[in-house]
Amino acid sequence: MPTQPIPAPGSHAISIRNLKKSFGSNEVLKDISLEIEPGEVVCIIGPSGSGKSTLLRCVNLLEVPTSGTVLVGPDEVTHPDADLDRIRRRIGMVFQSFNLFPHLTVLENLTVAQIKVLKRRKEDAIATARLNLHRVGMSSKEDAYPGQLSGGQQQRVAIARSLSMEPQLMLFDEPTSALDPELVGEVLAVMKSLANEGMTMVIVTHEMAFAREVADRVVFMDGGYIVEQGPAQEVIGNPREERTQSFLHRVL
Ligand code: ADP
Ligand code: MG
Repeated sequence: MPTQPIPAPGSHAISIRNLKKSFGSNEVLKDISLEIEPGEVVCIIGPSGSGKSTLLRCVNLLEVPTSGTVLVGPDEVTHPDADLDRIRRRIGMVFQSFNLFPHLTVLENLTVAQIKVLKRRKEDAIATARLNLHRVGMSSKEDAYPGQLSGGQQQRVAIARSLSMEPQLMLFDEPTSALDPELVGEVLAVMKSLANEGMTMVIVTHEMAFAREVADRVVFMDGGYIVEQGPAQEVIGNPREERTQSFLHRVL
């Protein structure tokens, strides 16, 4: 695989250079280089086990890369002296499982980290929480507990919770994969509106129709490499690489 050119520092929302990650002798990411621009929406597709989750997790250092560098804005996440708490606060992450606190109400789920981590006053945290519940169409459920909500509603609350921390970018790891099919659309609609508001988003997804509609760029990964990337109409609509073609043949 050719190594991509190295850009000037500080000009990208995310800049990943020559990233490698091994678990023991299993090299899962093999020389990944990728730049994401501010406001860009990038969908990452590829078969199970290709390293998509590991790549996202290396961006906020939930996994420590074996080698290579990751910058978020001008800050090098992989620098030994990096202030990880500060960097991580600027990155929202939404997972397949919603991970809401079951014993807290929806509103409390959205305020707790604002108060504890960002040291916001309670009334400011509540105001921010309500704004973001409105964004995801969940204002009427602020006093509900997660167990009283559908999966789609819980995921929308999880997105609102992330947004309440006012991140500069959002990472989504298969946010609709755990949902019943009839609930997928409401979560994708929220993500689409976020994209339209200009949020920088990296989304691992199997929702090809969503990727075609919303992504500025689609990245196809296989075997720890970026095999192909470009506009959705090219990568999904008219893929060049045989591996992309056979993957799409299986999922479409
Ligand atoms: P994807 O998200 O594309 O399905 P992952 O990034 O989850 O792929 O996994 C890629 C490979 O890395 C898999 O072979 C998986 O077993 C391995 N892997 C992921 N996380 C760990 C871990 N914490 N420890 C050991 N192996 C892991
Ligand atoms: Mg994964």
